[in-house]
Amino acid sequence: MNPKSLTQQIKTVSIWKRGDKRAPHKPLLLLLALARVARGEQRLTPFEVLYSELEDLLINFGPQRKSYHPEYPFWRLQNDGNFWEIPEREKAIAARGTRVRKGDVPKNVLVEVKANAGFCLEAHQVLQQNQGLLFQIATYLLEEQFPPSMHEDIFAAIGMPRAYKRLGDLINNDFRSTMLRIYERRCCVCGFDGKLGNATVGLEAAHVKWRKAEGPDAPENGLLLCNFHHKMFDRGVMGITLGHQITVSQHLHGGERVKELILQFSGKRYHPPQNGFPRIAEEYIKWHSEEVFRFPARHF
Ligand SMILES: [Zn+2]
Repeated sequence: MNPKSLTQQIKTVSIWKRGDKRAPHKPLLLLLALARVARGEQRLTPFEVLYSELEDLLINFGPQRKSYHPEYPFWRLQNDGNFWEIPEREKAIAARGTRVRKGDVPKNVLVEVKANAGFCLEAHQVLQQNQGLLFQIATYLLEEQFPPSMHEDIFAAIGMPRAYKRLGDLINNDFRSTMLRIYERRCCVCGFDGKLGNATVGLEAAHVKWRKAEGPDAPENGLLLCNFHHKMFDRGVMGITLGHQITVSQHLHGGERVKELILQFSGKRYHPPQNGFPRIAEEYIKWHSEEVFRFPARHF
């Protein structure tokens, strides 16, 4: 297997299959596996280890769901090319019997047959010998699935060594300057309007519906937020309602500073755009509420 073919196979792993619903299972499992190679660990990892690591990632970085099913990508990646191997495959298929629908193997069977998985031997060698390629693929997977404000956190969570090259500035400059202008260079939540000399500092253009989910670079899909509130918004700690109020997740805990920095804004309206510019469109607010925000909301 040559590096190009491996990259191609991983890039075409089927994701975003259900319209604009987030489905980061396979990319996150691949990222976990890539980090293992980068750390020089054994090629194959027991199902139960990957299951619990992937479940944590899905809970922390995936959309909120009733159940997460980390066993699906563990099994299904086999169908995305010839880079993913489960040596216990035949055993698992035999043990599965006719109890479940074709194409998947339930968690208990994977545990029962002591299944392992990892990159196949050739793919593993390509990645081991080519750390640059490994980081390039990992970065690609992140960029396809998550906004830039989350990249460092996810790399840290999967245990990716910090030797990777600095992630590029992915912010679209036109979108950013539009947001700065229509929101008058201050955070829509807290009003932060810091300047260093003449230059705005610590303010970012935020997409309500992520670009990864085909949210447009348009005023009706944007907010201007300080770095901190941008992070809280992308992580689903904060959301916005159809009535243009700020809402905060009940899952957020902390002390006095949490009150000062976030909770005090709950239930308040965020700063509107300058006259003549549209407010955020309903469809993008709904997407963020369903796919990003950590329900339930606090009520004050
Ligand atoms: Zn702010």
